Amino acid sequence: MFNKKGFDDSNYNVDNFEFIKKTSPIVGDLIEKEYNRQKNNIELIASENYCSEAVLAACGSCLSWKYAEGYPYVRTSGNTSRYYGGTKFVDELEEYCCDKWREVFNTDYHVNVQPHSGSQANFAAYKAILNPGDTILSLTLDNGGHLTHGSSVNFSGKLYNMVFYDVDDRGFIDMEDVRRKAHEVKPKLILTGASAYARIIDFEEFGKIAKEVGAYFMVDMAHIAGLVAGGVHPTPFGHADIVTTTTHKTLRGPRGGLIFARPELAKKVDSAVFPYAQGGPLEHVIAGKAVCAEEALQPEYKEYAQKVVENCKAFCDEFLKLGYKIVTGGTDNHVFLLDLSDFPFSGKDLQDRLDEVGITLNKNCIPNDQRSPKETSGVRIGTAPMTTRGYNEEDFREVARKIDAVIQEMK
Ligand code: PLP
Repeated sequence: MFNKKGFDDSNYNVDNFEFIKKTSPIVGDLIEKEYNRQKNNIELIASENYCSEAVLAACGSCLSWKYAEGYPYVRTSGNTSRYYGGTKFVDELEEYCCDKWREVFNTDYHVNVQPHSGSQANFAAYKAILNPGDTILSLTLDNGGHLTHGSSVNFSGKLYNMVFYDVDDRGFIDMEDVRRKAHEVKPKLILTGASAYARIIDFEEFGKIAKEVGAYFMVDMAHIAGLVAGGVHPTPFGHADIVTTTTHKTLRGPRGGLIFARPELAKKVDSAVFPYAQGGPLEHVIAGKAVCAEEALQPEYKEYAQKVVENCKAFCDEFLKLGYKIVTGGTDNHVFLLDLSDFPFSGKDLQDRLDEVGITLNKNCIPNDQRSPKETSGVRIGTAPMTTRGYNEEDFREVARKIDAVIQEMK
């Protein structure tokens, strides 16, 4: 599916649909329809991507049949701490997966590859270092943070005492505000990372502030992990005590999560994942994560990461030329937010209209949004999936002009 302007499914086993239909015509048919939707639409959702056929095959493998509660730990303690027999091969696989991810990020941090998702990685990471009621200093959802960064409707906002740092008038994270609030509230954890933030995050400065106030520092790099792996975004390793990520966004792997931690936090992180937050690990997904790590170590991956950013800058530039407002005025990474606050329709209206013409993106709050989170005054636009499909800067400029034509009709 890579490096083609259209969608190359020569390696994809489309017979799978027919095979599934033999057991369940309804499920097989729905998967086939979704496949064709993904194949024919222009996919601009910043948190999505197309992983390789090898990753898909690993995730659909016989490892799905295996229970392996516990950890392999062959190297660290000399024996495994699994609660099931028959784990010889999954032990080897899980250790291999951990090694490969350390190699990808060039780090000696401990890594736990078992979290089923980014949210579960964050749940376990907080549990490893915090008690309920402890204070976290974080970024709000409408300024670009994630639900698990302290939203009142999420476990994070319910279990912990949240204090939020702000963005400045242009939408950039306000580091002075981070420092001032950190000194004021003395949080146990300072958290950064985002779902809708278009600029480089200064991990070094965050790390310094955390040290000044004796807080843990955690980075949720879910969105930008592929860019960090490809060397086009500064790394949080060396600055953060804990780094969490998803593997399915810019990283381009299977749907899942990872936690990295300074070695002294290893045991606390592991026991927060299992047995606290999860039961049996998804060894088939861990296999997919290992394949993804190997792909991220190839020279072509650096090119991909670089193109994601170059394409995003060109895409953004075309909107600016067409007279649109962009939150922060541009982008440094794979995502940007189109500001629709001056338009008579919402982010949701545009999302729905674009859906009808085969362009998929999502509504998103912008800083100080006057519309509700269900409507929003922005849309989030990302370049990772279509870069994977081979789109170049001119292709993205053309998509900007297509979106502009739709907006002109809606005015
Ligand atoms: N962290 C960030 C920054 C995210 O953007 C997301 C998902 O969008 C998550 C965590 C949660 O990931 P998941 O959907 O796998 O739970």
